Amino acid sequence: MPDESQAAAHCATNDLVGELVFDVIVVGARCAGAVTAMLLARAGHKILLLDRAHFPSDTLSTHYVHQPGLAHLHRWGLLEEVLATGCPTLTSLSFHSPGVRLAGPAPTLGAITGGCAPRRLVLDHILVRAAVEAGAEFRPCSNMLDLHWRDGAVAGVVHGTRNRTPQLERASLVIGADGRNSTIARLTRAPYLRQDPRLTYTYYSYWSGIPQQGFRLYSVQGAGTACIPTHDDLTLLGLAFTRTGKPIDNRDRQQTYLSMLRQTSPELEQQLADAHQEERLFCCADQPNFFRQPHGPGWALVGDAAHTKDPGPARGITDAFTQADMLADHLNIPLDDHHQVSEALTHYAQWLSRAFDASYQYALHAARMDVNSHHQDLIDNQHDPAYVDRVLRAYAGILEPSPRRNEPLVTGAPSRDPAQVTPW
Ligand SMILES: Cc1cc2nc3c(=O)[nH]c(=O)nc-3n(C[C@H](O)[C@H](O)[C@H](O)COP(=O)(O)OP(=O)(O)OC[C@H]3O[C@@H](n4cnc5c(N)ncnc54)[C@H](O)[C@@H]3O)c2cc1C
Repeated sequence: MPDESQAAAHCATNDLVGELVFDVIVVGARCAGAVTAMLLARAGHKILLLDRAHFPSDTLSTHYVHQPGLAHLHRWGLLEEVLATGCPTLTSLSFHSPGVRLAGPAPTLGAITGGCAPRRLVLDHILVRAAVEAGAEFRPCSNMLDLHWRDGAVAGVVHGTRNRTPQLERASLVIGADGRNSTIARLTRAPYLRQDPRLTYTYYSYWSGIPQQGFRLYSVQGAGTACIPTHDDLTLLGLAFTRTGKPIDNRDRQQTYLSMLRQTSPELEQQLADAHQEERLFCCADQPNFFRQPHGPGWALVGDAAHTKDPGPARGITDAFTQADMLADHLNIPLDDHHQVSEALTHYAQWLSRAFDASYQYALHAARMDVNSHHQDLIDNQHDPAYVDRVLRAYAGILEPSPRRNEPLVTGAPSRDPAQVTPW
């Protein structure tokens, strides 16, 4: 793979005069990038979509998509294709912690009757195909190495494919949909607007033989297990736990996973006795929490590159869809008008920090896994259907909690507003 100095040398010698081939280059072709490329291409823009990965391919992430995420897919005409892959709609939700069982039908959102957990190998490929069908040019296995600058603004990218000379492509706008460790954020020195410590680890794998009982979440102080049915009658068992003590040695991870799964629930412990782990264990320790400044001259960020939060509430995919939708909406303007583009991106940035503030607080609170902080609330109200419905709708992201900073949700003091109660 060519390195950045080769790329820069290439950039310096390249002929920089001539017609722009693309209006927008989108780097990263998963939930945020493929959708952004698809929507901009549908709006008539000329799009180049790059990813260093080959497709279809998996990525290190569990993949529960809440109702608002599925509603986006429905609106874009892609939900049927996702469901046709055999991934079940999860029409019941239950949250369990010692002495508590909060259960109900999954909240509906228009035609959407529950959440769904399509494997990323499947979902991301459908999104990329939709971008290509909309007219975007897609180059997989293509690593973005450097940015091309002109008059203080980003004006293109240098990217390389294995064993080939790096190539310069120019565009009016470069969009970084390249994930939480975004190269574009690094090269543009996009500042962090807010940053909080990493709070959890996630370990997950796929199991056969687990009863299919909708989406279930089992919590104890400091840990939680999500049971999420997915394709092929398999269940994703995702364990999240707080980052206390020393990091867990590689050799001990499988054992830690199994023993913590059992500790999170006697019911699950029983079910595991008849179940079989079908795939290797996937482990993730890099779960940061931040907002970055999502734009500058000639560039913008979308998805995890712009804003990442702890995966406990499973919001990242839905958030990436929402951001891509909003970014494409703002860019429904002539993209060679730098003044209009800059104004549109400023509005996008303002919207982004406002729109995700409450769910960010919710995710940070959930990531502390302090079941005790609202345990009595859950015990007292678990048989009140209106309360349960509000907790379930808040989890699904249909009813956003609106906590004020440093007040009950964040400090962990008991809260009477069920929309502020995280289920673990
Ligand atoms: C352990 C874990 C569990 C999670 N579980 C859930 C869940 O259940 N539900 C949910 O909604 N969210 C979940 N998330 C969050 C979710 O994975 C992310 O929010 C989502 O993937 C963000 O999508 P994205 O397109 O912004 O970035 P990514 O999915 O990270 O995609 C970025 C793409 O950019 C490409 N790229 C990066 N750099 C370059 C470069 N220099 N050149 C070319 N290409 C590049 C990468 O190859 C990659 O394909 C989880 C996250 C983690 C870590």
